Amino acid sequence: MPHKSAILTIDDSPSIHMGERIAFLESKGIPAVWFCRGDYLEERPDFAIQAIRAGHVLGNHSYDHSYFSKLSLEQAFDQIDRTDRILESLHEKAGVLRKIKCFRFPYEARIGTPEHHAALQAGLKARGFVPLRLDGVVSKAFLEHAGSGDASWFWTYDTEDWKLVAQDSPEAKERMDSVLWRMDRDEPDADCGLNRPGTEIVVMHDHGHTGSQWQSVVDGLMAKGLHFALPA
Ligand SMILES: [Zn+2]
Repeated sequence: MPHKSAILTIDDSPSIHMGERIAFLESKGIPAVWFCRGDYLEERPDFAIQAIRAGHVLGNHSYDHSYFSKLSLEQAFDQIDRTDRILESLHEKAGVLRKIKCFRFPYEARIGTPEHHAALQAGLKARGFVPLRLDGVVSKAFLEHAGSGDASWFWTYDTEDWKLVAQDSPEAKERMDSVLWRMDRDEPDADCGLNRPGTEIVVMHDHGHTGSQWQSVVDGLMAKGLHFALPA
């Protein structure tokens, strides 16, 4: 089994399960970057504070998970700034200095026209959001984004855990099998490359309905030899 460096990024936090998920990751020695929605941070601030104190990174994932291609620049930056004010105040409450500012768009990586996209990226950088720079990444899609200087964080491997359904659903096992099967697939052009050498930026989701299936996805990733650390 190869030893692969990786960063675990988790979108759409904080869910009702975030607290137990932080504890689970701690038990495995895994730090993560949680991309949080502002509205959920207002609902469940305690989980965010728990994550900050446990040494995780909290990223900005907009206020209410809007489609940014449908927003004006003003509306887009309102989403970003509103959430950032919440993140700042949570770090103050946690008594921990915010070390890194990172952002991931809901749904999309490239937003609207090239000019609109460039204006969003420039605004992110002006606000202190930093691009994810990593050695050893081989994913073409990731390198394309990094190469164009985007400040928003892309990924190299989507676990597709968003396809999971509630545990008591008749389709639950089939969906979980497909998430685990994807980890074995070897199609680097489709960003299925956990079996190749190279650093991975994995995306999972902190969704409420997936319950403890979430832990099985993390176990699957660890079984692939991924060694998770925070970005330097
Ligand atoms: Zn999202």
